[in-house]
Amino acid sequence: MNRKYRKTIIAGNWKMNKTASETAAFADEIAPMLPKKPECEIVICLPALNIAAAQKAMRGTKIRVGAETMHEAASGAFTGEIAAGMLADMGVKYVIIGHSERRQYYNETDLSVNKKVRAALDAGLVPIVCVGESLEQRELGVTTELLDYQVSAALSGVTAKELRHVVIAYEPIWAIGTGKTATAEQAQEVCANIRALLRRKNDARTARAVSILYGGSMNAKNAAELLAQPDIDGGLIGGASLKPADFTKIIEAAAQG
Ligand code: PEP
Repeated sequence: MNRKYRKTIIAGNWKMNKTASETAAFADEIAPMLPKKPECEIVICLPALNIAAAQKAMRGTKIRVGAETMHEAASGAFTGEIAAGMLADMGVKYVIIGHSERRQYYNETDLSVNKKVRAALDAGLVPIVCVGESLEQRELGVTTELLDYQVSAALSGVTAKELRHVVIAYEPIWAIGTGKTATAEQAQEVCANIRALLRRKNDARTARAVSILYGGSMNAKNAAELLAQPDIDGGLIGGASLKPADFTKIIEAAAQG
């Protein structure tokens, strides 16, 4: 990480876990554990249904409540969906876009991810844009090319000024929820390549201002080494963000990097 130029962000992704009352219990448990002045932005992205309850429960903590997905349209006949403007109106700042589970189970494509990034920025939200390769793609040796493509596609039409309001999460698919973490070297290499791409497509000042997170089985034990890498500016954390003690340890690890 490099606190001089960009924010360190520790973001949880709760996926389809915890009811509103379990969310309140989590807030009660974690509140006294959190550092008084955290060195990072702390975010928990959780099911939209529970955002209001979570905001209430986490008031007084430094945790910001974010969303896990959104629709690309501003409004309309999209039963069950949630628009960026609705999230912004609730005081939400961060929204995960293009998580590999959304790509895999809900047919999200590079095109729809790009449309969602546009809609999020237009609504004043900060998209956490997820990219990452499968095991097969890594073994074929096309990780750099694939990530260059995914990032370029997701950010097509995004200006350098807007890019400062975008967070990128590198999440190798083979490491999500599997207990297999990318080594610190592997994760650093990809995050550095993403930053180099942002530099080539924009400029050095913009590229150094963008926070790039690593996600994929980050936990209390491996967080410090990952977060010590110069181009890894935080984590997107699934399983370990559900447990107050583990999530707190990751937040503490972010203070050391
Ligand atoms: C995720 O859901 O983005 C994630 C990284 O999950 P986990 O930490 O459980 O691998």
